[in-house]
Amino acid sequence: MRYPLLEIESKKIEENAKRLIDECHDKGIQIAGVTKVFSGNKKIVKAIVDAGIDILADSRIENLKSFKDYKIPKMLIRIPMKSQIRDLVKYTDIALVSEIEIVKEINKFALKANKKYKVILMVDIGDLREGIFFENKDEIHSAIQEISKMKYVELYGLGTNLTCYGGIIPTSDNLSILVELKKEIEKKFGKQIKFISGGNSETIPLMRTGNMPEGINQLRLGASIALGIGLYDMPLENLYQDTVKLKSEIIEIKQKPSKPIGEISVDAFGNKPHFEDKGIRKRAICAIGKQDVNPEHLIPIDENIQILGASSDHLLLDTTDSCVDYKIGDTLEFKLTYGGLLSAMTSKYIYKRII
Ligand SMILES: *Cc1c(COP(=O)(O)O)cnc(C)c1O
Repeated sequence: MRYPLLEIESKKIEENAKRLIDECHDKGIQIAGVTKVFSGNKKIVKAIVDAGIDILADSRIENLKSFKDYKIPKMLIRIPMKSQIRDLVKYTDIALVSEIEIVKEINKFALKANKKYKVILMVDIGDLREGIFFENKDEIHSAIQEISKMKYVELYGLGTNLTCYGGIIPTSDNLSILVELKKEIEKKFGKQIKFISGGNSETIPLMRTGNMPEGINQLRLGASIALGIGLYDMPLENLYQDTVKLKSEIIEIKQKPSKPIGEISVDAFGNKPHFEDKGIRKRAICAIGKQDVNPEHLIPIDENIQILGASSDHLLLDTTDSCVDYKIGDTLEFKLTYGGLLSAMTSKYIYKRII
């Protein structure tokens, strides 16, 4: 076996997707399965598609392009770059949009491809990432009007995203803004809007307590499928959290002081480190570093191990309190946060094993 190794239990991920699909379909909610954390890994994505998601969603066109054999509508969830519209129209069917200039470009390429392309107009209800700010009604209305004139673009829905930048929590109040907006637009333009794409995994607790406003009928779910987590990264009931495990090999074990000797300058990343003097401790070094994953995103499965820090290629751990007598060549195992999984999947130096 080669290390570092990321083990991914695709059966558990598929099961998470199945359970979320059942739960949401029961409530008349469509699921876009968001696969961006898996860095285009086709085996895992296939398992998620097989679970029965309605739409395959990713933030990178390169990933969606590599999923072209999966017969399922595909959606780009990062608002598109003007330079990628040709590929967008070729490899995907739906996009989240916020700039009319981009939609015009989509219409242009969709005409050339003779394909009716769907867009979800993003409305920013307070998190301050993508979308037209909800108070700018004129801008929203004129965008809708422009889109309705386009022959090759269909306004598929209104959407919003929360928690990702501003950390704003989805509530019945802020999501109702979208529902009201939809009613207003339908009245003004005499046209039905099929979907309200109301958010991500962080919206699940609101849905489960029955407080998600009526009318939100699409969720874009990533973290809940991948790691069984939702708001505040808290575990969601009825889902697996132990879907992934990172194994890293020990390359040094030594007794050393806990406080470096000499005058302290800055570390490899320009930070001035601080150390507590705990006397002589047993320290291990694992062959993985910040180039692969930020140590703050790793959680040792042996709870008596403490992560001390990392440089680009070395992870430093205090193993003094562990009951296990680790040896050179042994591996240490870690759980990963969402951010940890994202970078571990992206690192070409981490081997992946899908089981
Ligand atoms: C990442 C992302 C999602 C999925 O979020 P999770 O918290 O992983 O469920 C949904 N929508 C957009 C626009 C995203 O960028």
